[in-house]
Amino acid sequence: MTSPTLTTTLPYQDPALPIPERVADLLGRMTLEEKIGQMLQLDARDDLDDHILRRLAGSILHTSPERILRANELTAETRLRIPLLVAEDCIHGHSFWPGATIYPTQLGMAASWDAELLERVARATAEEVAVTGIHWTFSPVLCISRDLRWGRVSETFGEDPFLIGELASAMVRGYQGDGLDDPTAILATAKHFAGYSETQGGRDASEADISRRKLRSWFLPPFERVAREGCRSFMLGYQTMDGVPITTNEWLLSDVLRGEWGYTGTLITDWDNVGRMVWEQRIQPDIAHAAAAAVRAGNDMIMTTPGFFEGTLDAVAQGLLVEDAFDAAAARILTLKFELGLFEDPRLPGVELDAVVGSAAHAELNLEMARRSIVLLENNGVLPLDATAPLRVAVVGPLADDAQTQLGDWAGGSGQAGWLDGQPRDMITTVRDGLQGVDGWSVVYARGADILTLEEDPQGAFFPDHQPRPPVVKPCAPDEALIAEAVAAASASDVVVAVVGDRIELVGEGRSTATLELIGGQNALLDALIATGKPVVVVLLASKPLVLPASVQQAAAVIWAANPGMQGGRALAEIIAGAVEPSGRLPISFAQHVGQQPTYYNQIRGQHGDRYADLTQSPAWAFGEGRSYTTVEYSDLVLEETVLCVSDTIVGHVTVSNTGERPVRETVQVYVRDAVTSVSWTDKELKAYRQVDIEPGESVRVRLELPVADCTIVDAAGIRLVEPGAFELLVGPSSRDEVLLSAGFAVS
Ligand code: BGC
Repeated sequence: MTSPTLTTTLPYQDPALPIPERVADLLGRMTLEEKIGQMLQLDARDDLDDHILRRLAGSILHTSPERILRANELTAETRLRIPLLVAEDCIHGHSFWPGATIYPTQLGMAASWDAELLERVARATAEEVAVTGIHWTFSPVLCISRDLRWGRVSETFGEDPFLIGELASAMVRGYQGDGLDDPTAILATAKHFAGYSETQGGRDASEADISRRKLRSWFLPPFERVAREGCRSFMLGYQTMDGVPITTNEWLLSDVLRGEWGYTGTLITDWDNVGRMVWEQRIQPDIAHAAAAAVRAGNDMIMTTPGFFEGTLDAVAQGLLVEDAFDAAAARILTLKFELGLFEDPRLPGVELDAVVGSAAHAELNLEMARRSIVLLENNGVLPLDATAPLRVAVVGPLADDAQTQLGDWAGGSGQAGWLDGQPRDMITTVRDGLQGVDGWSVVYARGADILTLEEDPQGAFFPDHQPRPPVVKPCAPDEALIAEAVAAASASDVVVAVVGDRIELVGEGRSTATLELIGGQNALLDALIATGKPVVVVLLASKPLVLPASVQQAAAVIWAANPGMQGGRALAEIIAGAVEPSGRLPISFAQHVGQQPTYYNQIRGQHGDRYADLTQSPAWAFGEGRSYTTVEYSDLVLEETVLCVSDTIVGHVTVSNTGERPVRETVQVYVRDAVTSVSWTDKELKAYRQVDIEPGESVRVRLELPVADCTIVDAAGIRLVEPGAFELLVGPSSRDEVLLSAGFAVS
């Protein structure tokens, strides 16, 4: 439909004009209501007509394939026909698009420590997303996972700020491609800015007890990196810090992000952050005051607070905001739309969609990613199994053949999108499928245990804002019949592959866990399988590090596959059968017991001893650990210079030898220890790493480079600096002191 008011081409419609001129022209034509509308991002599952025609929304999210088309038809009916920005949480693939490629979760991908590979995954995801009419992904997540009880650990890159920065930067590059005018580019979002993961007791979105110095030390650096590298949007976390929600934290938003870092991109709130200040955090008396505070703090896009529209109009009427208070935000949103070229081409779902979404090339990339995401934690030599022998394999466990659970959170079956129950079963290879695909093996399957049932929360099925309240998890009791069936299958086999872990009901927002143990009948199942005396390969298919029962110390091997995506079962089978070498390294430490939280490696020096009376503080498996099918030795760490100034680069060399019989991709990790610091600091921090492929019997001399300027701490005044003095460069296969070589150097 054509608008009755637009008959000739207006300056803002002229693609030949520079974007600032087009923005200025359009802004000059807009009413107050239209500007406020541009700031609104509303839920496309609700009343689209109302969103677009009455509230004049500038953006929508959670859009089914059909509703994207409807939304665009409605936009064509508006006075100025400003195109919509369509957003979605495409955080490990195009999550909610039927038939899209779903990769391992972000935590799984992080276990590859391979930035270049993550960049390719993000690029491929952008191609699938862009062709479906979606312009903006809420990815990557830069939160630091320090409490394993938190429900959103699987969405993060783990516990280390340096690794997070490397991988996040790669994903942003992949999403945004060569620039927003490239039709396959999508907007990336760095989230959740900042400190959201520092929850109390792992409880989602609780107050984060975090000082400005602590933020500057560990939580802000990955965000600073992507801000400076051109990530075009930042999402603001839910939590308050020192009593102030991020949404109105002027120090963080104005002084640091837009000031110090020179960020010019867009700020979007998280889900109803503005409304929450009224109904949840109770720090604003009504929506007019909350909306006014959010506008004054410099937010551009307000996610899913429909009442922001009326609230801001009310705020203007009351004199809480002046009429031009919305110009800067509206201009930033319009700039994005012009940069994406949406006025010329709203990028509707394209005809070429089927060739791109879920393509064979992306499945191949997904398989490569899945292989690299898998971490071998223990192996008594049973792995790899002999693929040439006619092995009888019992594949057992409630997750051995659970296709949708394998995909994890933010995927077709994870509940955020009502228009699909899951991704097509035939696109997913479970562990059972994968093992059945090994020629010459006979594979029997038994479920062995149930995990959980659900009950409605006694407080009701909905939160006060009408969002669904997650149901309460009731662990299933061990089922003797299921266990007996599994034990019989195990006893009649040469080897058992037991696939255990967590389910979606234990993962995600509002689904933090108080415990880390395997739920339901799973521990009893593992105990019974191990008691058969057969070699048991435990595959922990879990969104986050969990605690395994004591019997697993007798397991023949332990593998962690954080929800490994559609190709996960195939990748696991290839590793188990020795067709592929395991190469993943932990991006996050595993606890031995939930009471050890936190177990992250880079903790602050200084406490009475280093153990509990009843347990050590040592993690079950530490950051950086992961085995291969060969043995690797490190030797001869030498630095070229040992007295350096801040402008120098530390150059070191270390010999890494493959002393076993199979090839290896080794991740050579470089940590720095600052001997004496003016304020307490972590004992060591990852500063660099290199991945090298080494053939059996071969040694390589690996060159390591690190600018001295990276050997910083944050002092008492919150300033990041290098303090002259003695340092150690620590090099080895993980963050454990016992395996690191050390070379001293001094900074003058
Ligand atoms: C989450 C965000 C997500 C948004 C939109 C929020 O509840 O915290 O990470 O991007 O919803 O789905």
